[in-house]
Amino acid sequence: MPLTLPDIRRNCAIARLRMKQARLEHWAFGAFNLDDEATLKAVIRAAKTKNAPVLVEVSQGEVDDIGLYNIRDMVDNFKREENVEIYINLDHSPSVEDAKKGIEAGFEFIHIDISQSNHDATDDQIINATKEVVNYARLTGASVESEPHYFSGGSNVFSTNIDYDEIKKTFSTPQEAKKFVDATKIDTFAAAIGNLHGKYPVPKILDLDLLQKIRDAINVNISLHGGSDTPGHYFREAVRIGVSKVNINSDMRYAYRTTLEKILKEHPDQYSVAKLISKDVVDVLTKVVESKIDDFNSANKAIKPNN
Ligand SMILES: [Zn+2]
Repeated sequence: MPLTLPDIRRNCAIARLRMKQARLEHWAFGAFNLDDEATLKAVIRAAKTKNAPVLVEVSQGEVDDIGLYNIRDMVDNFKREENVEIYINLDHSPSVEDAKKGIEAGFEFIHIDISQSNHDATDDQIINATKEVVNYARLTGASVESEPHYFSGGSNVFSTNIDYDEIKKTFSTPQEAKKFVDATKIDTFAAAIGNLHGKYPVPKILDLDLLQKIRDAINVNISLHGGSDTPGHYFREAVRIGVSKVNINSDMRYAYRTTLEKILKEHPDQYSVAKLISKDVVDVLTKVVESKIDDFNSANKAIKPNN
Protein backbone atom coordinates (compact mmCIF):
# COMPACT_ATOMS: atom_id res chain seq x y z
CA MET A 1 0.00 0.00 0.00
CA PRO A 2 1.54 3.37 -0.97
CA LEU A 3 2.37 5.73 1.87
CA THR A 4 0.40 8.97 2.24
CA LEU A 5 2.27 12.29 2.47
CA PRO A 6 1.52 12.55 6.22
CA ASP A 7 2.94 8.99 6.67
CA ILE A 8 6.07 9.95 4.76
CA ARG A 9 6.50 13.15 6.75
CA ARG A 10 6.15 11.26 10.01
CA ASN A 11 8.73 8.65 8.94
CA CYS A 12 11.17 11.36 7.86
CA ALA A 13 10.73 13.30 11.11
CA ILE A 14 11.44 10.14 13.14
CA ALA A 15 14.47 9.32 10.96
CA ARG A 16 15.89 12.84 11.54
CA LEU A 17 15.43 12.54 15.25
CA ARG A 18 17.05 9.12 15.29
CA MET A 19 20.12 10.37 13.40
CA LYS A 20 20.46 13.10 16.02
CA GLN A 21 20.21 10.50 18.79
CA ALA A 22 22.75 8.25 17.08
CA ARG A 23 25.29 11.07 17.15
CA LEU A 24 24.59 11.98 20.77
CA GLU A 25 24.59 8.37 21.96
CA HIS A 26 27.60 7.30 19.85
CA TRP A 27 26.15 4.64 17.62
CA ALA A 28 25.69 4.55 13.85
CA PHE A 29 23.10 3.26 11.43
CA GLY A 30 24.41 0.50 9.21
CA ALA A 31 23.24 1.36 5.69
CA PHE A 32 23.14 -1.99 3.95
CA ASN A 33 22.80 -2.24 0.21
CA LEU A 34 19.61 -3.96 -0.91
CA ASP A 35 20.29 -6.08 -4.00
CA ASP A 36 17.24 -8.32 -3.87
CA GLU A 37 14.75 -9.92 -1.49
CA ALA A 38 17.46 -12.18 -0.01
CA THR A 39 19.67 -9.27 1.06
CA LEU A 40 16.65 -7.44 2.50
CA LYS A 41 15.65 -10.56 4.43
CA ALA A 42 19.16 -10.85 5.90
CA VAL A 43 19.11 -7.20 7.02
CA ILE A 44 15.65 -7.61 8.59
CA ARG A 45 16.68 -10.79 10.37
CA ALA A 46 19.90 -9.28 11.72
CA ALA A 47 18.07 -6.10 12.80
CA LYS A 48 15.53 -8.23 14.64
CA THR A 49 18.08 -10.50 16.36
CA LYS A 50 20.25 -7.56 17.37
CA ASN A 51 17.31 -5.25 18.12
CA ALA A 52 19.11 -2.67 15.99
CA PRO A 53 17.82 0.24 13.87
CA VAL A 54 18.95 -0.13 10.24
CA LEU A 55 18.92 1.54 6.86
CA VAL A 56 18.72 -0.25 3.57
CA GLU A 57 19.93 1.56 0.52
CA VAL A 58 19.62 1.28 -3.22
CA SER A 59 21.56 2.93 -6.00
CA GLN A 60 20.12 3.80 -9.40
CA GLY A 61 20.94 0.29 -10.68
CA GLU A 62 18.67 -1.35 -8.12
CA VAL A 63 16.05 1.35 -8.61
CA ASP A 64 15.95 0.58 -12.34
CA ASP A 65 15.90 -3.14 -11.62
CA ILE A 66 13.34 -3.38 -8.81
CA GLY A 67 11.45 -0.05 -8.93
CA LEU A 68 11.26 2.71 -6.31
CA TYR A 69 7.75 1.85 -5.15
CA ASN A 70 8.40 -1.91 -5.05
CA ILE A 71 11.40 -1.21 -2.81
CA ARG A 72 9.34 1.05 -0.56
CA ASP A 73 6.53 -1.54 -0.31
CA MET A 74 8.85 -4.51 0.31
CA VAL A 75 10.61 -2.66 3.11
CA ASP A 76 7.31 -1.45 4.61
CA ASN A 77 5.80 -4.95 4.56
CA PHE A 78 8.79 -6.39 6.42
CA LYS A 79 8.85 -3.40 8.77
CA ARG A 80 5.21 -4.01 9.75
CA GLU A 81 5.37 -7.81 9.84
CA GLU A 82 8.65 -8.06 11.73
CA ASN A 83 8.32 -4.85 13.76
CA VAL A 84 11.85 -3.64 12.97
CA GLU A 85 13.08 -0.05 12.82
CA ILE A 86 14.15 0.44 9.21
CA TYR A 87 14.48 3.37 6.80
CA ILE A 88 15.48 3.67 3.14
CA ASN A 89 18.35 5.62 1.65
CA LEU A 90 18.61 6.47 -2.04
CA ASP A 91 22.35 6.08 -2.51
CA HIS A 92 24.42 7.95 -5.12
CA SER A 93 21.41 9.38 -6.90
CA PRO A 94 22.90 10.50 -10.23
CA SER A 95 20.61 13.47 -10.94
CA VAL A 96 18.31 15.99 -9.28
CA GLU A 97 15.34 14.41 -11.11
CA ASP A 98 16.12 10.94 -9.75
CA ALA A 99 16.61 12.31 -6.24
CA LYS A 100 13.22 14.07 -6.46
CA LYS A 101 11.57 10.77 -7.40
CA GLY A 102 13.11 9.14 -4.32
CA ILE A 103 11.75 11.95 -2.14
CA GLU A 104 8.28 11.51 -3.66
CA ALA A 105 8.42 7.74 -3.10
CA GLY A 106 8.94 8.41 0.62
CA PHE A 107 12.61 7.54 1.04
CA GLU A 108 13.76 9.01 4.34
CA PHE A 109 17.34 9.57 3.18
CA ILE A 110 18.54 10.93 -0.15
CA HIS A 111 22.17 10.98 -1.23
CA ILE A 112 22.66 13.28 -4.22
CA ASP A 113 25.86 12.58 -6.13
CA ILE A 114 25.97 14.02 -9.64
CA SER A 115 29.76 13.48 -9.73
CA GLN A 116 29.27 9.71 -9.86
CA SER A 117 27.81 9.94 -13.37
CA ASN A 118 29.92 12.96 -14.32
CA HIS A 119 33.37 12.85 -12.70
CA ASP A 120 34.13 16.26 -14.21
CA ALA A 121 31.19 18.03 -12.58
CA THR A 122 32.33 21.45 -11.36
CA ASP A 123 32.09 22.60 -7.74
CA ASP A 124 29.28 24.95 -8.68
CA GLN A 125 27.33 22.22 -10.48
CA ILE A 126 27.63 19.93 -7.46
CA ILE A 127 26.63 22.69 -5.02
CA ASN A 128 23.68 23.83 -7.13
CA ALA A 129 22.32 20.29 -7.65
CA THR A 130 22.68 19.57 -3.93
CA LYS A 131 20.89 22.81 -3.00
CA GLU A 132 18.03 21.99 -5.34
CA VAL A 133 17.56 18.58 -3.70
CA VAL A 134 17.79 20.09 -0.19
CA ASN A 135 15.00 22.52 -1.15
CA TYR A 136 12.80 19.83 -2.69
CA ALA A 137 13.28 17.57 0.34
CA ARG A 138 11.31 20.12 2.41
CA LEU A 139 8.23 18.49 0.85
CA THR A 140 8.65 15.42 3.05
CA GLY A 141 11.44 16.26 5.47
CA ALA A 142 13.83 13.71 3.95
CA SER A 143 17.46 14.10 5.04
CA VAL A 144 19.91 14.96 2.28
CA GLU A 145 23.48 13.72 2.07
CA SER A 146 26.24 14.82 -0.28
CA GLU A 147 29.95 15.53 -0.67
CA PRO A 148 31.93 18.15 -2.58
CA HIS A 149 33.61 15.90 -5.14
CA TYR A 150 33.77 12.46 -6.72
CA PHE A 151 34.30 9.59 -4.30
CA SER A 152 36.37 6.82 -5.88
CA GLY A 153 36.21 3.03 -6.11
CA GLY A 154 33.23 0.86 -7.06
CA SER A 155 30.98 -1.80 -5.53
CA ASN A 156 33.21 -4.68 -6.51
CA VAL A 157 36.23 -6.80 -5.63
CA PHE A 158 39.50 -5.28 -6.83
CA SER A 159 42.81 -7.09 -7.27
CA THR A 160 44.93 -3.94 -7.17
CA ASN A 161 46.36 -2.66 -3.92
CA ILE A 162 45.22 0.63 -2.46
CA ASP A 163 47.56 3.49 -3.36
CA TYR A 164 47.20 5.57 -0.20
CA ASP A 165 49.25 8.45 -1.58
CA GLU A 166 46.77 8.81 -4.43
CA ILE A 167 43.75 8.31 -2.18
CA LYS A 168 44.98 10.93 0.31
CA LYS A 169 44.69 13.57 -2.40
CA THR A 170 40.92 13.01 -2.33
CA PHE A 171 40.49 13.11 1.47
CA SER A 172 38.00 15.60 2.87
CA THR A 173 39.42 18.58 4.71
CA PRO A 174 37.68 20.32 7.63
CA GLN A 175 37.69 23.66 5.77
CA GLU A 176 36.24 22.20 2.59
CA ALA A 177 33.62 20.25 4.58
CA LYS A 178 32.48 23.39 6.40
CA LYS A 179 32.34 25.42 3.21
CA PHE A 180 30.24 22.74 1.49
CA VAL A 181 27.85 22.29 4.42
CA ASP A 182 27.38 26.07 4.73
CA ALA A 183 26.76 26.45 0.99
CA THR A 184 24.32 23.55 0.60
CA LYS A 185 22.61 23.19 4.04
CA ILE A 186 22.82 19.40 3.77
CA ASP A 187 21.90 17.17 6.69
CA THR A 188 24.70 14.63 6.27
CA PHE A 189 28.26 15.05 5.04
CA ALA A 190 29.84 12.02 3.35
CA ALA A 191 33.43 12.14 4.60
CA ALA A 192 36.45 10.69 2.78
CA ILE A 193 39.08 9.71 5.34
CA GLY A 194 40.49 6.51 3.82
CA ASN A 195 37.15 4.78 3.29
CA LEU A 196 36.78 3.63 -0.30
CA HIS A 197 34.12 1.84 -2.36
CA GLY A 198 34.88 -1.84 -2.95
CA LYS A 199 36.94 -4.69 -1.55
CA TYR A 200 40.74 -4.76 -1.94
CA PRO A 201 43.55 -7.24 -1.17
CA VAL A 202 44.55 -5.16 1.87
CA PRO A 203 42.31 -3.83 4.64
CA LYS A 204 41.46 -0.13 4.65
CA ILE A 205 43.02 2.43 6.98
CA LEU A 206 40.91 5.30 8.29
CA ASP A 207 42.44 8.63 9.34
CA LEU A 208 40.62 9.11 12.63
CA ASP A 209 42.48 12.33 13.54
CA LEU A 210 41.17 13.86 10.34
CA LEU A 211 37.68 12.55 11.15
CA GLN A 212 37.84 14.28 14.55
CA LYS A 213 38.85 17.55 12.88
CA ILE A 214 35.95 17.28 10.43
CA ARG A 215 33.60 16.43 13.31
CA ASP A 216 34.75 19.60 15.13
CA ALA A 217 34.34 21.74 11.99
CA ILE A 218 30.73 20.92 11.05
CA ASN A 219 27.47 20.51 12.91
CA VAL A 220 25.69 17.98 10.67
CA ASN A 221 25.64 14.18 10.54
CA ILE A 222 28.70 12.44 9.10
CA SER A 223 28.50 9.29 6.97
CA LEU A 224 31.19 6.93 5.75
CA HIS A 225 30.80 5.30 2.34
CA GLY A 226 32.83 2.30 1.26
CA GLY A 227 32.74 0.61 4.66
CA SER A 228 33.51 -2.92 3.45
CA ASP A 229 36.76 -4.62 4.43
CA THR A 230 37.51 -2.10 7.16
CA PRO A 231 38.81 -3.51 10.46
CA GLY A 232 36.08 -3.20 13.10
CA HIS A 233 38.16 -1.13 15.54
CA TYR A 234 38.09 1.79 13.05
CA PHE A 235 34.30 1.80 13.11
CA ARG A 236 34.13 1.63 16.87
CA GLU A 237 36.41 4.69 17.06
CA ALA A 238 34.60 6.48 14.21
CA VAL A 239 31.26 6.00 15.95
CA ARG A 240 32.72 7.31 19.21
CA ILE A 241 33.96 10.41 17.34
CA GLY A 242 30.52 10.95 15.83
CA VAL A 243 29.84 9.10 12.58
CA SER A 244 26.11 8.30 12.32
CA LYS A 245 25.85 6.20 9.16
CA VAL A 246 28.15 3.64 7.54
CA ASN A 247 27.44 2.18 4.10
CA ILE A 248 28.09 -1.52 3.50
CA ASN A 249 27.79 -3.15 0.11
CA SER A 250 30.82 -5.10 -1.16
CA ASP A 251 31.19 -7.31 1.96
CA MET A 252 27.62 -8.50 1.40
CA ARG A 253 28.03 -9.01 -2.34
CA TYR A 254 31.22 -10.97 -1.75
CA ALA A 255 29.53 -13.19 0.86
CA TYR A 256 26.51 -13.65 -1.43
CA ARG A 257 28.49 -14.79 -4.44
CA THR A 258 31.03 -17.01 -2.66
CA THR A 259 28.27 -18.74 -0.64
CA LEU A 260 26.12 -19.24 -3.71
CA GLU A 261 29.03 -20.73 -5.69
CA LYS A 262 29.77 -23.08 -2.80
CA ILE A 263 26.21 -24.35 -2.31
CA LEU A 264 25.59 -24.74 -6.05
CA LYS A 265 28.60 -27.06 -6.10
CA GLU A 266 27.31 -28.93 -3.06
CA HIS A 267 23.78 -29.36 -4.51
CA PRO A 268 24.20 -30.18 -8.22
CA ASP A 269 20.67 -31.65 -8.39
CA GLN A 270 18.82 -28.71 -6.85
CA TYR A 271 17.23 -26.51 -9.53
CA SER A 272 15.34 -24.28 -7.14
CA VAL A 273 18.23 -21.89 -6.76
CA ALA A 274 15.92 -19.50 -4.91
CA LYS A 275 15.49 -22.14 -2.21
CA LEU A 276 19.26 -22.37 -1.75
CA ILE A 277 19.56 -18.60 -1.67
CA SER A 278 16.76 -18.07 0.83
CA LYS A 279 18.38 -20.50 3.24
CA ASP A 280 22.18 -20.67 2.97
CA VAL A 281 22.92 -17.29 1.39
CA VAL A 282 20.55 -15.42 3.73
CA ASP A 283 22.14 -17.18 6.73
CA VAL A 284 25.64 -16.04 5.75
CA LEU A 285 24.51 -12.49 4.87
CA THR A 286 22.71 -12.21 8.20
CA LYS A 287 25.98 -12.92 10.00
CA VAL A 288 27.77 -10.23 7.96
CA VAL A 289 25.09 -7.67 8.89
CA GLU A 290 25.11 -8.71 12.55
CA SER A 291 28.87 -8.26 12.86
CA LYS A 292 28.62 -4.75 11.36
CA ILE A 293 25.82 -3.86 13.78
CA ASP A 294 28.17 -4.83 16.63
CA ASP A 295 30.94 -2.64 15.16
CA PHE A 296 28.51 0.28 14.80
CA ASN A 297 27.32 -0.06 18.41
CA SER A 298 23.69 -0.08 17.23
CA ALA A 299 22.56 -3.33 18.89
CA ASN A 300 19.65 -2.82 21.32
CA LYS A 301 19.10 0.75 20.11
CA ALA A 302 15.92 0.10 18.06
CA ILE A 303 12.54 1.66 18.68
CA LYS A 304 9.64 -0.61 17.63
CA PRO A 305 7.54 0.95 14.84
CA ASN A 306 4.35 -0.98 15.80
CA ASN A 307 4.43 -0.06 19.50
ZN1 LIG B 1 28.88 5.11 -1.67
